[in-house]
Amino acid sequence: MTARIIDGKAISAQVRASVAAEVQRLEREHGLKPGLAVVLVGEDPASAVYVRSKGKQTVEAGMNSFEHKLPADTPESDVLALVQKLNADPAVHGILVQLPLPKQIDSQKVLNSIDPAKDVDGFHPVNVGRLATGLPALTPCTPLGCIILAKTVHTSLEGMNAVIVGRSNIVGKPLIQLLLNENATVTVAHSKTRDLPEVCQKADLLLAAVGRPEMVRGGWVKPGATVIDVGINRVPTPDGKGRIVGDVAYAEAAGVAGAITPAPGGVGPMTIACLLVNTVRAACAIKGLPKPAV
Ligand code: NDP
Repeated sequence: MTARIIDGKAISAQVRASVAAEVQRLEREHGLKPGLAVVLVGEDPASAVYVRSKGKQTVEAGMNSFEHKLPADTPESDVLALVQKLNADPAVHGILVQLPLPKQIDSQKVLNSIDPAKDVDGFHPVNVGRLATGLPALTPCTPLGCIILAKTVHTSLEGMNAVIVGRSNIVGKPLIQLLLNENATVTVAHSKTRDLPEVCQKADLLLAAVGRPEMVRGGWVKPGATVIDVGINRVPTPDGKGRIVGDVAYAEAAGVAGAITPAPGGVGPMTIACLLVNTVRAACAIKGLPKPAV
């Protein structure tokens, strides 16, 4: 079997186009222009690339982008003061503080200080709790992207055996709730799971968020299953440049799966697209407008 490739680049472009159309409608009908503020502290090169990309895609979708770049030695109190200012700013509907933060800053304290209504990363305990109890919530972007990708293959995930490998707060755990909301039967595996290959072999939908290059082998995949690979791992190459691989041994798994995301080009591009979705949703909720069509 050769798996159908789930093209995250193309699907994320469709999501961004839907966001742009919705932004135009909101501006036309309600005079509302959603705005996203991104806070970057320090000069971490990967973070700087992400922040640039987020700003560019926000503007391309017709929204306001507010970038706040602070030096690496910024005290925690200054970051908290900036978040308070953004919480109070009516032009800002989404606030994202780029992680990791420098050592002198308590990341959880900063994330907890974001107004939950503007918490477009979905990391605030209020949103985590709302998602867990089935209330409307801003949902972490990468897991939301995984669900959108899975639903391009299966119109409904109801009754499917979904196995998530990884239980981080930003990917694995929110995926549990999102998949339960889709009426999937959910199993979560982690570093203490026994017989991991066997657990994975039971999955109709296998989601890998481990951070270990190509750990999930082709033999772990049930024939015909859908595989969503969240992993982004840089591995060395002879030319010294390195290359990105996922948590799934792609070539092996693609020979067994029914559908599979490549890495890169699968889940990765969905994360920013879902950030834009969350910003539009947050703007509508703050303005008391009905949930948008994205
Ligand atoms: P974390 O390191 O926070 O969590 C990894 C999880 O994998 C943990 O729950 C850990 O278990 C589990 N794990 C580690 N080793 C094993 C093993 N040998 N067998 C079974 N489970 C194991 O990672 P993240 O969730 O933050 O990220 C996972 C991957 O997804 C990374 O490659 C990351 O780069 C990528 N990523 C991609 C994003 C995107 O596409 N935009 C966004 C976020 C992440 P335990 O809890 O027991 O320690």
